[in-house]
Amino acid sequence: MSKNNAVAVKAHVLGFPRIGAQRELKFAVEKFWRGEITEAELTQVGQTLRRQHWAWQAEAGLDFVTVGDFAWYDQILNTAALLGAIPARFGFDAQQLSLPQYFELARGNPTQFAMEMTKYFDTNYHYLVPELSSQTRFDGGVEWLFDEVADAILHGHAVKVALPGPLTFLWLSKCKQDGYNKLDLLPSIVAAYTRIFNKLTALGVEQIQIDEPILALQLPAEWVAAFEPTYGTLGRQGLQVLLTTYFDSVLEHAGLLASLPVAGVHIDAVRAPEQLSQFAALWPANKALSVGVIDGRNIWATDLVKTLAVLKPIHAQLGSALWIAPSCSLLHVPVDLAQETQLDTELKSWLAFAKQKLQELGALKRGLNGGDITSALTSNADAQHARRISKRIHNPSVAARLGALTHQGKVDQRAAPFVARQAAQRQRFNLPLLPTTTIGSFPQTKEIRAARAAFKKGEISAAQYQAAMQAEIALVVKKQDELGIDVPVHGEAERNDMVEYFGEQLAGFAFTQLGWVQSYGSRCVKPPILFGDVSRPSPMTVAWSSYAQSLTTKPMKGMLTGPVTILQWSFVRDDQPRSVTCDQIALAIRDEVCDLENAGIGIIQIDEPAFREGLPLKQSDWADYLNWAGRAFRISASGVANDTQIHTHMCYSEFNDILPAIAAMDADVITIETSRSDMELLEAFAGKTVSETAGEAFIYPNEIGPGVYDIHSPRVPQVNEMVRLIAKALEVVPAERLWINPDCGLKTRAWPETEAALANMLAAAQLARAAL
Ligand code: GLN
Ligand code: ZN
Repeated sequence: MSKNNAVAVKAHVLGFPRIGAQRELKFAVEKFWRGEITEAELTQVGQTLRRQHWAWQAEAGLDFVTVGDFAWYDQILNTAALLGAIPARFGFDAQQLSLPQYFELARGNPTQFAMEMTKYFDTNYHYLVPELSSQTRFDGGVEWLFDEVADAILHGHAVKVALPGPLTFLWLSKCKQDGYNKLDLLPSIVAAYTRIFNKLTALGVEQIQIDEPILALQLPAEWVAAFEPTYGTLGRQGLQVLLTTYFDSVLEHAGLLASLPVAGVHIDAVRAPEQLSQFAALWPANKALSVGVIDGRNIWATDLVKTLAVLKPIHAQLGSALWIAPSCSLLHVPVDLAQETQLDTELKSWLAFAKQKLQELGALKRGLNGGDITSALTSNADAQHARRISKRIHNPSVAARLGALTHQGKVDQRAAPFVARQAAQRQRFNLPLLPTTTIGSFPQTKEIRAARAAFKKGEISAAQYQAAMQAEIALVVKKQDELGIDVPVHGEAERNDMVEYFGEQLAGFAFTQLGWVQSYGSRCVKPPILFGDVSRPSPMTVAWSSYAQSLTTKPMKGMLTGPVTILQWSFVRDDQPRSVTCDQIALAIRDEVCDLENAGIGIIQIDEPAFREGLPLKQSDWADYLNWAGRAFRISASGVANDTQIHTHMCYSEFNDILPAIAAMDADVITIETSRSDMELLEAFAGKTVSETAGEAFIYPNEIGPGVYDIHSPRVPQVNEMVRLIAKALEVVPAERLWINPDCGLKTRAWPETEAALANMLAAAQLARAAL
């Protein structure tokens, strides 16, 4: 290794997953909530995990271990607790905040609802939204961070502390006071950061990483302007400040970033590789440029040869000012690939989870610093080559089918426009006005889950499993018939998860045993790995739907997950555009839609709850996304006759800004979530609120089922509440286009409240029809 410090590259991570390779943190936190372990036992688990993660970073040869990425529930909540900026309504003393109180902020208590939770940028991670007001003080709070720092130092580590930046923290916060500008809080929050910096300095810390991912958004000018005074202060406190950006290009701010008085800046060269050479060209000699070259959002092994080739000229130019890192925190990938015993060695050689990414980073650092990494390069190059040409990935018939699509212009268009289809469907189904339906799932009882687990373990036969699921379907259909639901569903008993169920049956997907990623708090998800060309070897839902249809004279609604949602909720290929992968999934779903139609299923719902969250961070990129995502949905939906009715479902109704694109999906019926907004969000569909982007009123043309009751709570809605909501909906949607349904699926509910709520919904529909 090079002894010359003038050229030695530094390596670090922006953050490491905290849940533990075996989800130790999840289980400990949940035990603590249930009172099964003490606070001391819980803090012990946290400490063990942190020490493990630091040890891995040190062993991989990184220059610092990152401290501050740990959180009992969420890192934004931790920052609020550190600053002392917790919601006043809980009545807690911020400086004495206890761990149980911290969890009450996150989860609510009998008198206070929980802090709101929302998605962190375009990830599937959810953070808790700080609640600020003009009265909020940032007088300091919990001391956890300082204890963690002291512990890392005690273990002999070189420490880099990582914290969300003050501007990003403010941006992610909500401030309910009308007319109050959050930015007015900036001086007091910067003062609080200054005090934290001073405490860290006193502990012996020299390096601090401050995350400002909002720089990757298209920020209002006053927010951009706030960076200079903020970092003018924070950059001059004596700590070496590394200002980190990620998730997209920050090229528009390159001049600003080069001039701020900080020690260094991190850019994401995975999401936005094109910004690298331009940053390098203008980068000042006295400032570190940390380049994120390992994908922190995906599970693919890094192409080391290619990455070294990119980095070498930049290293030649910047010398020791070059730092290397993953693109963003590794929070968004699973912990350790080595635990996966069911994945075959070839597939594994293409993958890298967080721990493997540390090793990649160590190898890149050694390689740049003149060390011999031949053997790492050789095995990596072999795996990369094998992946490029693998028959498991590249299926010529999928490619041929996709290629042919470009020549058939109509593949994403229904045969007739909506009005003609609507007439054909009315004739075929003869539904009453204000038809009633549900969103798909019925209660997933303990018995259902036990049967599925037993089947997966081989404890019951396929025939026994099928019989158990059919019994459940029969029950669900009977209950819906008794209730008088116009368009029943089969209840989705056979589905563990709306993406996994399809991924397991499609070619091109693989599943891990322990590939968990934190979603929020103690909740983790295990996204499928979409590694190859997608095709559908055989029908996936037809048998269940046909069975359900055989039990009733009502039109049974078939139930599928849409291509955009399957894409969004999987780790997907990085060797072709997302739009291509999405088209492949769309063709597979299209085959299923057509098979359902052939089996006599005349109403088919294609769920797209993840459609909106796929929107890129920069609004200027939205049109392109909406274009290919909408087309993929239409490819999946357009293979059917005019009198087959296509539904879609989305678990929200904030469509103001993208309503024309939602309309362009051209589903015959869309069901959405609206009950909690008191139907107010529905107004957008009637052109009552002006679309921000279109700049003019747009009226949604097809049929709509705005949810009339909240399925997130066991509370049974009263008939008159729903009558009122239906009346409100009728003010903006004509009766000929209005459906009546709950907000979302019922899988998390129990039977008693489900039956009671649906009975009331049906009664409300009767009253509303009578009043027409
Ligand atoms: N059909 C699914 C269900 O009812 C939809 C779930 C969702 O919208 N996320 O469970
Ligand atoms: Zn939903």
